[in-house]
Amino acid sequence: MIVMKFGGSSVGDGPRIVNVARIVKDTKKPKIVVVSALGGVTDKLVNIATKVVDLPTLVVEKEVDLFYRDILIQHREALEDAVPDRRVLSELLPKIIELLDQLRIGLLGVGYLEDLSPRSMDYITSFGERLSVLVVEGALRSMGVNAVSLTGHEAGMITDSNFGSARPIHSKSRAKVKRVLIPLLKAGKTPVITGFVSGNENAKITTLGRGGSDYTASLLGNYLSSKEVQIWTDVEGIMTTDPRIVREAKPIETLSYVEAMDLAYFGAKVIHSKMIEPAMVAGIPVWVKNSFKPESKGTLIVRDQKRIKSVIKSVTIKKDVALLTVQGVGMAETPNIAGRIFSILGGNSINIPMISGSSESNLSFIVNQGDLEKAVDLIENEIEADGFRGVKVKENVSVITVVGAGMAGTKGIAAKVFSTISKANVNIIMIAQGSSEVNISFVVKDSDSKKAVKALHKRFIK
Ligand code: ADP
Ligand code: ASP
Ligand code: MG
Repeated sequence: MIVMKFGGSSVGDGPRIVNVARIVKDTKKPKIVVVSALGGVTDKLVNIATKVVDLPTLVVEKEVDLFYRDILIQHREALEDAVPDRRVLSELLPKIIELLDQLRIGLLGVGYLEDLSPRSMDYITSFGERLSVLVVEGALRSMGVNAVSLTGHEAGMITDSNFGSARPIHSKSRAKVKRVLIPLLKAGKTPVITGFVSGNENAKITTLGRGGSDYTASLLGNYLSSKEVQIWTDVEGIMTTDPRIVREAKPIETLSYVEAMDLAYFGAKVIHSKMIEPAMVAGIPVWVKNSFKPESKGTLIVRDQKRIKSVIKSVTIKKDVALLTVQGVGMAETPNIAGRIFSILGGNSINIPMISGSSESNLSFIVNQGDLEKAVDLIENEIEADGFRGVKVKENVSVITVVGAGMAGTKGIAAKVFSTISKANVNIIMIAQGSSEVNISFVVKDSDSKKAVKALHKRFIK
């Protein structure tokens, strides 16, 4: 059994969904299919919810109705293009309209109550995938594949109630997923499951965080001990850098789990950073492939990477981060200040992607831009009494990372990386401490980031 996941760009519209259905149909092994929302739909849902919550009551309904019409047209057109079997079409269209009616009421609720909690946001964004699975189901059934669509929760996945970035409860999910999906597979059915969308123990909708459909796929692969997880996207695998920045970027043949995890964590959007672990612990190979060019090879992620020419395999860029520095003589005099700062941030679900060396008088680290305000407030409250000069914030920065397992045994690689950066006339603001030896990360100004990536790619990628 294999898991096949198709991202938003692969299911962007009717013709693309037909293409996806053909790839699924041509795969003869038993499979489960995981799909994202139609490309751009999750962004649209986030935007409308964020907009209506602040609108004057009088115009809420008008705005929601405009949105309703737009999203209905998009899904109805996709359905009509992807589902030539009129009987299937007439069964699925009412289901789509029913979902859209629920979405409309949800948005009116957000607008009138002027309240958009993470829980409401999960409810609203869940409609993207709940709609797309119906279209993919219809396309498959029109081709004679016995497809059945389910939400992640209906498929057996159970998460905690950390809305917006829910964590799966493995012990409960594993048993339930097997109980639901194995009989379907045995009956010759092809389950089509919502990526990203799941539910908590009270069956309230949760999501796994943006880009989380990849995570759904690898979790299901893990629970069902699948032979393989395939991530179908719009590029030919994981590339040597973001192809939108460097045109010469090439697909990488093989990566280790650790390399892939670092790449994703430090900005390669092509896979979600959490998706590697469930595959890694079960030793399941992950393929990243291009749905627009199914014949091209793609990238294979496994435990042992092959030796290749380049010590550095890929260069990544992580944007939308800010650099925080806590300064003051209090650093030296206050015991465990770093521990206190990190635990207060961690306790409030604020992730720290990168830490630089702390000295007696300062401590620097990176937070995601979205967490910045909260992080600064929390730290200021925590250290107020201890004689600190406060927290210095530097925005508009990016983290650049070079990744490659070959770096571990190669002398002088860091020096070469930094001299390449300096030759490109780019100033390094901060260097990460104690990396996994599979990566080197550093911070530069946003405006220098592309220059840095291009210089590194040119120098190191063979
Ligand atoms: P999907 O809709 O299939 O989930 P995403 O948009 O999430 O696709 O991820 C694919 C995109 O990731 C690519 O179009 C590419 O622009 C971007 N990307 C960034 N870094 C890399 C990389 N190193 N290799 C491949 N793609 C990358
Ligand atoms: N549709 C969700 C998003 O856009 C999940 C995903 O595509 O992986 O974030
Ligand atoms: Mg994605």
